[in-house]
Amino acid sequence: HADVAMYRAKQHGRNGYCFFSHDLETDLLKRHELELQLRETLEHDRLEVHFQPQYNLRTRQIVGAEALVRMRDKHGQLISPLQFIPLAEETGLINQLGLQVLNKSCLAAKKWADMNHGIRVSVNVAAKQFANVNFWDEVATALEGAQLPSRLLELELTESALMHDFDKTRGTLEQLSELGLSIAIDDFGTGYSSLSYLKAFPINVLKIDQSFVKDMLNDKQSENIVKTIIHLANSLDLKLIGEGIEYEQQQRLLLDMGCEVGQGYLFSKPISESQMTELLTR
Ligand code: C2E
Ligand code: MG
Ligand code: MG
Ligand code: MG
Repeated sequence: HADVAMYRAKQHGRNGYCFFSHDLETDLLKRHELELQLRETLEHDRLEVHFQPQYNLRTRQIVGAEALVRMRDKHGQLISPLQFIPLAEETGLINQLGLQVLNKSCLAAKKWADMNHGIRVSVNVAAKQFANVNFWDEVATALEGAQLPSRLLELELTESALMHDFDKTRGTLEQLSELGLSIAIDDFGTGYSSLSYLKAFPINVLKIDQSFVKDMLNDKQSENIVKTIIHLANSLDLKLIGEGIEYEQQQRLLLDMGCEVGQGYLFSKPISESQMTELLTR
């Protein structure tokens, strides 16, 4: 009964006691350590960006790659972004983090384009980062700095990142779109939002959330949701990317239903930049 414990803690607080369970204390210490680690990593420009190839499911050609940030602990072990991205958002470090990922991703995309492997690199953008008044400028500067043709950059936004201030969001998206890059909705179908934004905003791609792809073989409702997303995308002239494809049957079903591009462990996990270079030149 977490609420009872919380109530008790509050009561203690009122009486002037500081209520601290051992677990809470270790959690706070871990959090603090992670924050220090993140600050140090950012300061020394030691973030890594890994890339997960995206495939044309019909031809098995690589058509793009999603950039996924990675951080190492003192022992060189990778820490999951699911741990440090929320922390970065809470501490405001997300802007600095996002900018480093954006710049590194543009440079990698430019390197591959120069090797005659012009694939589109897709970069995740956090809600706070998107809301930052400098965001458009940072994107434009990253493209210029890397000399990257803007059609080779895609930005991934979640529905919730777009749902704050309608007019401001539309303005920013239109400005970004004018640069010539592509805008994708990440984890599509999992946000609590109306669909009307799809016609009001310049969106190019829907990424079918991996939870639907994961369940669609065993669960008719998930399959129907995927089908509906695909119909929606086709009728609004949006591109599609299926996420989290782990099994041959999932990729076949996606293809049968009309989703032509996908990523997932079936093809490749996220890999380092040099592994990606190797994969492209193979
Ligand atoms: P996401 O953007 O939806 O990225 C997809 C996640 O699914 C990645 O996890 C990827 O490694 C994982 N994945 C890919 N294929 C499969 C598969 O077949 N099966 C399963 N089970 N998982 C698969 P990752 O790299 O741990 O990233 C988790 C989340 O962290 C991302 O979800 C994204 O929301 C966030 N993230 C990662 N990098 C960045 C970044 O540079 N900036 C921001 N703001 N968020 C990021
Ligand atoms: Mg993503
Ligand atoms: Mg996703
Ligand atoms: Mg996700």
